[in-house]
Amino acid sequence: MEEREIIIIGSGPAGLTSAIYTSRAGYKPLVIEGIPAGGQLMITTDIENFPGFPEGITGPELIANMKKQAEKFDTEFLMSKVTKADLSSSPFKIQAEDKEYSAKAVIIATGAKARYLDLPAVEALKGKGVSACATCDGFFFKDKIIYVIGGGDSAIEEALFLTKFGKEVNIVHRRNQLRAGRYMQEKLLNDPKVNVIWDSVVEDIKDVEKGKVEKIVLKNVKTGELTEKDADGIFMGIGHAPATDIFKGQVDLDEKGYIAVKQGTQTNVKGVFAAGDVMDPHFRQAITAAGTGCMAAIEADRFLQGQ
Ligand code: NAP
Repeated sequence: MEEREIIIIGSGPAGLTSAIYTSRAGYKPLVIEGIPAGGQLMITTDIENFPGFPEGITGPELIANMKKQAEKFDTEFLMSKVTKADLSSSPFKIQAEDKEYSAKAVIIATGAKARYLDLPAVEALKGKGVSACATCDGFFFKDKIIYVIGGGDSAIEEALFLTKFGKEVNIVHRRNQLRAGRYMQEKLLNDPKVNVIWDSVVEDIKDVEKGKVEKIVLKNVKTGELTEKDADGIFMGIGHAPATDIFKGQVDLDEKGYIAVKQGTQTNVKGVFAAGDVMDPHFRQAITAAGTGCMAAIEADRFLQGQ
């Protein structure tokens, strides 16, 4: 078993900021990156609201810069997934594939994953026309008919990105008011390629037997009316769920499954901290994830100094 002072799990803006701070404080942290590494920013195009980049920056570039900064101060990176964590006693035990590590402090920054609609057709057609990542899969829908489900910032961002490819982009939203911020709403509603279908939910997707998306069946929630329309690509934009599976029963979670924290980033287990989207159902911004990553690093340093 390899002994470490600090292990950081996850390599999005929260994990990488924790790495910059803890490595700069002299801890030589190990970041177990997760697969794929870099988190959700790796599938984000232009970021216009991360301070310090007046011209904007792409998600992958921002992550690459943060990683370079952490490496400069001797952070070690392991491109692997944590398969098991034992947080029942200190030092904590972390297993990444076939190697086991012990750590005096752990920072959990595993982020969140896109949610999919709970329909058998969605499960059957994932990767066959149903996707939750416009930046990864948009290219496959050149001149095709695209549907995006959801009315939040993610759905709108996906829809706007997909206008580069699709001949039409339809947003399906279950209410008659978007949840997204005003700036994104205006951008969307002024885009001639986008059509919003209000008060509607997806009832079914066809054709599972053919193994590809051909039709979408929508239900108007006010009238109950069903409509079947041609479709080639269907993108989920219905929010995210925290990646906490391996920590269930080990650290307290809130009612939505996010890691419960007190005083910023402390979990109920002394020496275990959480940062970024895995503990934040409210803000979920790159900048807030980076902020909590910094907080977790400072808390971990204080905890280790106090021991
Ligand atoms: P979100 O704000 O929770 O929006 C999810 C959307 O999906 C909502 O419109 C919701 O409808 C809809 N939805 C949820 N479950 C559904 C279901 N089962 N069937 C149909 N529709 C469903 O999630 P998000 O868009 O991923 O954004 C999360 C956070 O990240 C937000 O704070 C957002 O501001 C932030 N974000 C920011 C940016 C940016 O600044 N550029 C980009 C992406 C995300 P209701 O509205 O009816 O609940």
